[in-house]
Amino acid sequence: MIKIGILDLQGDVYEHLKTTQKAVKKMDTPAQILKVKTASEVSKCKGIIISGGESTVIGKLIKEESIDQVIKKQKIAVLGTCAGMVLLSTKTDYEQPLLGLIDMQVKRNGFGRQRLSFQKEIEIFDGKFPGIFIRAPYASEVGNGVKILAKIKDKIVAVQDGNCLATAFHPELTQDTKIHEYFIKEVLNCVE
Ligand code: GLN
Repeated sequence: MIKIGILDLQGDVYEHLKTTQKAVKKMDTPAQILKVKTASEVSKCKGIIISGGESTVIGKLIKEESIDQVIKKQKIAVLGTCAGMVLLSTKTDYEQPLLGLIDMQVKRNGFGRQRLSFQKEIEIFDGKFPGIFIRAPYASEVGNGVKILAKIKDKIVAVQDGNCLATAFHPELTQDTKIHEYFIKEVLNCVE
């Protein structure tokens, strides 16, 4: 049975755990969803989810635990949401440790600070999705080969590059499991 790890260093880990479990149940996929904290635990997973939280803190802990090295060496698939999107990028407007797995320029807190957080329906995968944006980043530029999945005006809010998927919003805070289902089905290819 494949394992999907929710990186349990900081942020809204529990919400991702619940949403991923719900998606797996709905899809009737034989996958084990578990929280992971160490490089050794990460190495046993086919996919990893990096939650929203503080990208500076999560990034520092990822490096300290050498989790970035395992992800890169084993080419583990990653879904990064909000802070996770920042961490997947190659460039931000802030000095911080990054995984650099998606070639994109990201602006942290691109939509403004906490009080400017908002909810907006976005278009993704030929449908609508309730986007929750909390001190959300956006990508202003992406490299060749990076697929843009959703935008708000000129701001890129969801992308995919190979087996890495990033959203500026928080799919784990909604009842809609579409993003998690996409990660499990299309990125991890683990639907029988
Ligand atoms: N702005 C935060 C960061 O860059 C992300 C906020 C969030 O994950 N809700 O870490």
